[in-house]
Amino acid sequence: MMTVETAKTIVAESGLKLLESKLVARTWGNVSCRTGDKTFVITPSGLSYEQMTAADIVVYDAESGNWEGSRKPSSEKGVHAAAYAQFPDAGFVIHTHQMYASAIGLAGFDRLKLTDEEEAALGGIALSKYGLPGSKKLMKNVKASLATGAHAILMAQHGALIVGKDEKEAFERAMKLEEVCKAACHGQPSTSGQPTQVSEGSALKAIVDSLAPSFQYLAYTSHPATIRTSQASAVIEAQLDDMAQMIGPKLYAVPASAEAVGKALETQDAVLVKNLGAVCKAVDKADGDALTLLTEKACVAYLHTHALGDFVNLSWLDANLMRFVYLKKYSKKSGG
Ligand SMILES: [Zn+2]
Repeated sequence: MMTVETAKTIVAESGLKLLESKLVARTWGNVSCRTGDKTFVITPSGLSYEQMTAADIVVYDAESGNWEGSRKPSSEKGVHAAAYAQFPDAGFVIHTHQMYASAIGLAGFDRLKLTDEEEAALGGIALSKYGLPGSKKLMKNVKASLATGAHAILMAQHGALIVGKDEKEAFERAMKLEEVCKAACHGQPSTSGQPTQVSEGSALKAIVDSLAPSFQYLAYTSHPATIRTSQASAVIEAQLDDMAQMIGPKLYAVPASAEAVGKALETQDAVLVKNLGAVCKAVDKADGDALTLLTEKACVAYLHTHALGDFVNLSWLDANLMRFVYLKKYSKKSGG
């Protein structure tokens, strides 16, 4: 078994890896590493991965529920504990909000065709039912999926949980999961798959430039999914937890004018701009990157589920509740 200090270092470093691989945005997701039969170290709640060092990692005892460290353990420690309890040889667990696995978690899981090699590489795959983040219901649902023997769990309307014998295997599984889900996803209008860079002087950039003096920070994207979604619907509803939290229950599409975008951003943190993409209102670049990534993911999810004719929005109550709790927590953190 690994020493606690080594495990803390690995976990702190993999947080950054998680962010760089775009498996999560900002402070979302969490990582843990087993250090004993019933103990593991886990990333703390609400700290950005860029700031995180080994000293911030929390030691958690799954049997007593006690923890040691200067920070609170991630609120999703329960699903990590469930994974270690289910698999005695599990050494590393990652919880992500990865784009394509999230889309398949919404629709099309039953139609997902994996080769034997893919199935083996993932260590089995399962879909768990929805539960509010950090809730007992979510833990119970994930536990039931782990009990099927699957090491890659799609958490409906939320993200994924990936279990490996070590960090390397867990990350390989997370990337493999994204690859197989991307291949089955209908939310990618262009085959390139990569977000298109908006060139200087483009129409979207011009709108953002003219609005910039009125806002702290504006981020924008012309990911093909945002363009296609802006054309398909005047409003999309949150299907995923993190959209409900960070953007709100609804994402609106407005005409491509600075006036319309500026007006929408008075009350919304993200808005789709017809035929051009999306603009997000943020506090800084990190916040803007997270918001654009979430907007892109919400659009991929929208296109995918609507192509399959199989979409489930979060309930009005859940979506509004999450937005409310998020805004309260967030304003506290930024000192407001
Ligand atoms: Zn999560």
